[in-house]
Amino acid sequence: MKNILIIYTGGTIGMVPTENGYSPKEGYFMGALEKIGGLHHFSMPHWDFVEMSPLLDSSNISVEEWNKIAETIADNYDSYDGFVILHGTDTMAYTASALSFMLENLSKPVILTGSQIPLCELRSDGRDNLITSLLIAADDKVHEVCLCFGGLLLRGNRTTKYSADGLVAFSSPNYPALAEIGISIRYHRPALLPKPDGTLHLQKLESIPIGVLKVFPGIQFELFESIMTETLRGIVLETFGAGNIPEGSGALLPIIHKAFMNGTVVTVCSQCAQGTVTLGTYETSNALMRAGAVSGHDLTTEAAVTKLYYLFSKNLGKDEIKAAMEQDLRGELTLRD
Ligand code: ASP
Repeated sequence: MKNILIIYTGGTIGMVPTENGYSPKEGYFMGALEKIGGLHHFSMPHWDFVEMSPLLDSSNISVEEWNKIAETIADNYDSYDGFVILHGTDTMAYTASALSFMLENLSKPVILTGSQIPLCELRSDGRDNLITSLLIAADDKVHEVCLCFGGLLLRGNRTTKYSADGLVAFSSPNYPALAEIGISIRYHRPALLPKPDGTLHLQKLESIPIGVLKVFPGIQFELFESIMTETLRGIVLETFGAGNIPEGSGALLPIIHKAFMNGTVVTVCSQCAQGTVTLGTYETSNALMRAGAVSGHDLTTEAAVTKLYYLFSKNLGKDEIKAAMEQDLRGELTLRD
């Protein structure tokens, strides 16, 4: 029988109503789990449960918690066949992306899930999400960090939360679902990462100063100059379409150049969820490349931010980081010819 470790971090799935709104409650969730019919069904794997402390609304998650979650997986790696992480939906895509980079040579399933409606409520989506995640974690097909939610199994570092209230809350706009969960779990095998060679290695993250700047019509780039050139080490620039910035934004290019010379890596992503950045297609994006920015291709902002944390935490030089940002490390981006 397969052995799965459930790591409970907080989030709506285990929250209870309080006078200030839903909130996680220490020591409550294991009891709630035991009341769910089916978790001890003969076709379920054996599972153990560990509760993180403090439990969090995932809006409060930070590098510190990512390190704790990843350490829990690494410490228990040899004793379990797979891991299910119960997490709030608000930052689940960030955590899934971060873990995908931190867990180098991961060969076991790490499945993040949660719910939009708490388990204590009648119409909770938590039961199905949890049971399906446990079944997938006990299957030998997946060797990567995934997010399982609302009938879809998605590559973690390709996901983004796109609905605040729908039960299918996540999408993977630039990569197909790894599995669709209907009457049966239908894997899309060619989309899965192959099992890697080598042993698991955990790369912990440091709290690197990283920023996300969304371009908008009329943006005054000079207002951001000092933070971009003196404070931040990694910047995700959310541009229009395929990587375009407004004409007349002359101030941006010298800022990017100065930032780059100071060791800051500026990664160009798109405000469009679907599609890819292609620097050089338009005059408005060509200059970005010349100033030293790197193309984020079809990276989500979540993946770009966490990849920057990861690469800077490895203490690589700016040129190595620049090169690695454009490479596919964990299936997070698509390289086109
Ligand atoms: N605010 C909650 C959280 O991210 C939302 C959720 O879990 O759905 O923890």
